[in-house]
Amino acid sequence: MNQKMNVLVVGGAGYIGSHCVRQLQAAGHHPVVLDNLVFGHRESIRPEVPFYECDLGDRDAVGKILRDESIELVMHFAAFAFVGESVTEPRKYYENNFVATLRLLESMLDNGVKKFVFSSTCATYGEPETLPIVETLQQAPINPYGQTKLDVENCLKSFAHAYGLSFAAFRYFNAAGAAADGSIGEDHTPETHLIPLVIDAATGRRENIKIFGTDYPTPDGTCLRDYVHVDDLSRAHIAVFDKLDIEGAAHFYNLGTGRPSSVREIIEAVEVVTGLKVPVVEDERRAGDPPALYADASKAQRELGWQVQYPNVKEIIKTAWRWHEKNPSGFGG
Ligand code: UDP
Repeated sequence: MNQKMNVLVVGGAGYIGSHCVRQLQAAGHHPVVLDNLVFGHRESIRPEVPFYECDLGDRDAVGKILRDESIELVMHFAAFAFVGESVTEPRKYYENNFVATLRLLESMLDNGVKKFVFSSTCATYGEPETLPIVETLQQAPINPYGQTKLDVENCLKSFAHAYGLSFAAFRYFNAAGAAADGSIGEDHTPETHLIPLVIDAATGRRENIKIFGTDYPTPDGTCLRDYVHVDDLSRAHIAVFDKLDIEGAAHFYNLGTGRPSSVREIIEAVEVVTGLKVPVVEDERRAGDPPALYADASKAQRELGWQVQYPNVKEIIKTAWRWHEKNPSGFGG
């Protein structure tokens, strides 16, 4: 059992970060949140959690927080994550996802903080040749978003070797769902993710849901993705703490349920959960979407004892629906 830790959660007011902060609190750790609130929501953080509105690339400010709060471990969730935008505006992605992360790592090393947990992505695999995806598969991203995440992974490996940084990089599949009590959940502007968009189509906040591609080589012609509950993701970040006690430790884990759902299956599941009809429009493929992505997460299960509590996508959607019912306008409401 690991000791209680002082953890700086960078991007802790964002979707996955804020859920992780709750889990850290529940496990008795001491989270401190750093977020510039470009995408994050101040309301997602309970008042008792120390909060700093700050850029992660601000070395002086971050260094002071690390010292003042006696931080022992940094979790890094802050990133730009719109795949399409990364293609048209790659500068923004290299600057925010890579250069700013480098500054954050420098602040850590300057202040003797050597434990790091990084949010990576299945987008680092590009279009995988075999499924389910195992960690050892070749990584060949097909967009700048995935490339910046892979660049950070490689940087971390070098830093572990040279400077004794201990890190875990989690390659998320499709994060989904919300806290079981419906108090926090997904609220992106603009929203691009399938499940919240389908819920909006069900409730009439959007006219319809467009299915991006119905001619993929999959059983029903629509893309297969591995939707994993945000609380399941969060628990892995805490389960890995013991692994970071060894200097220079370098770990990579896939986090997914291993059970793919098609776009059509998600729409059907939303209809069942909400009892509402979803208006559907069949549309062209979206550029850069691989037909199928799903995880072999047996490494995380084996090494971290990680077991998903939400193996069924309907149960995941139920939590997203509860959040939506309680907060139809997201945090803005
Ligand atoms: N998708 C869709 N219509 C939408 C949004 C998404 O058909 O309005 C599809 C998308 O093509 C992909 C899946 O839903 O196959 C999940 O997309 P999302 O953007 O949620 O996550 P991604 O897999 O891109 O990380």
